[in-house]
Amino acid sequence: MRVLFVSSEVHPLAKTGGLADVSEALPKALRAHDVDVRLLMPAYPQAKDRLMAQGAPIALKNVLGFDDVALIPGLLPGSELPIWLIDCPLLYDRPGRLYCDPDGQEWHDNALRYALLSHVVARLARGLTPLAWRPDIVHANDWHTGIIPALLDADTAPRPAVVFTIHNMAYQGNFPAACLDFIGLSSRLYHPDGVEFHNRVSFLKAGVRYADRITTVSPTYASEILSPDFGHGLEGVARQRQNDLVGILNGADYGLWDPVNDRHLIERYDRHYISGKKICKAALLTELGLPAMGNAPLIAFNSRLVEQKMADVVLEAVPAMVAAGGQFALLGEGDRRFESAFADLARRYPESISVRIGYDEPAAHRLLAGADILLAPARFEPCGLTQLYAMRYGTVPIVRRTGGLADTVVDATPETLHAGAATGLSFHDISAAALGEAARRAIELFGQPLLWRRLQVAGMQADFSWERSARRYLDLYRSLRPESQLRRVARGRTPDDDDSYGGRVVNSR
Ligand code: ADP
Repeated sequence: MRVLFVSSEVHPLAKTGGLADVSEALPKALRAHDVDVRLLMPAYPQAKDRLMAQGAPIALKNVLGFDDVALIPGLLPGSELPIWLIDCPLLYDRPGRLYCDPDGQEWHDNALRYALLSHVVARLARGLTPLAWRPDIVHANDWHTGIIPALLDADTAPRPAVVFTIHNMAYQGNFPAACLDFIGLSSRLYHPDGVEFHNRVSFLKAGVRYADRITTVSPTYASEILSPDFGHGLEGVARQRQNDLVGILNGADYGLWDPVNDRHLIERYDRHYISGKKICKAALLTELGLPAMGNAPLIAFNSRLVEQKMADVVLEAVPAMVAAGGQFALLGEGDRRFESAFADLARRYPESISVRIGYDEPAAHRLLAGADILLAPARFEPCGLTQLYAMRYGTVPIVRRTGGLADTVVDATPETLHAGAATGLSFHDISAAALGEAARRAIELFGQPLLWRRLQVAGMQADFSWERSARRYLDLYRSLRPESQLRRVARGRTPDDDDSYGGRVVNSR
């Protein structure tokens, strides 16, 4: 089974959020199942710097008018995973964040940047590059890769099947119709039943419309996106593809996110040695410049500062948490208005609130280990990873009951606590009052050490490793494989026998 896994970001080469974590962990887990999985992403400068390069770049002939496109082969650091970086300096070698310029504005040519990525994948899939390797399956992720199945759709010749995973329905890659002239997509596809979306070209819609199978990253989100509240206008096309849509829960990579082996921590710990967490908390308070205030719970928020993550509601709710005796620590970046409002809050409560604006991976590990409670609310949440990580660190998550948050956290009630099933606290309404009430319950439980320990241990024992989910993706690939096999037989080649071809077919839902 040969799988080309295409993502705009892959940890540790480039990351803005959970997509990068998944793009590292899922291929690793698939490889453990003997899948020949290879990654492909843009050669952003930081990715080039960190890559373990292997061999000379492979030049590709003119792609979308660019003559200097090449594939840089290498290994993902810390793994045996082969990866190609698409080098096209004019499009990818830039300062700033991945998708925005240093002023926070989206790059003006994002349509072209990710169209080029998609065209390179289409060539690779068709065997039109110097590489001998061709995939059976292209696994494309998020809007950046959405036009890949549309490019391949016109093919009458054999082609790999395309699995398209939606990590977030709100990021759609919608661009003016005029971009059709330079992104190399046939204008025949520009109609409401194709890639057109409110007079624009939508990369995400293209993915949903033309992929052979569509997945989302949690079962609840897979059903939510069929409704207007969560579909962001694409619920209709999602419903059309309902029979080919499945939700497969993301996992946590415990090789990277487990306090028992986390190299970023001053003290390592596990559920048999939870007191190690106290040492991490003391070190964290010192690092953040917060005083140790007796047994005050430290409440953390590690998130992109955007409306999706209810940053506005958290802002409103934090003063009451502080008044109830908590301390609050934030590590995040995002909308400028939230960044400055949180910074103001920290100035008002220097003893109780620490705000760090920026992106810092080791600091995120130290925060999760040192905090007692993690705020992980969201207006919508395709899966969410921080709540999974928090549980493993004995840091009790507070989540809103939506998407993957609803699928992964068991609310603490007298019954679930008694049964040892509770792993966090959840609430429903999108309001500071509802979040505040959940925080009040958490602070109250924190004051009861035996109950708190039970909550922590249940979370630390919960198993969200990738193993099970990777097997589900594998089943999905296998359900598509016969088609590509037949295509190859039709071309006069025999099915190869490199694995258990003919695996069981997965039911979509
Ligand atoms: P999303 O992908 O929607 O941002 P997830 O919960 O799926 O949310 O994943 C967030 C990932 O990004 C986690 O690994 C989290 O630790 C990380 N992260 C978010 N903000 C920061 C930050 N400011 N610094 C370091 N890591 C961050």
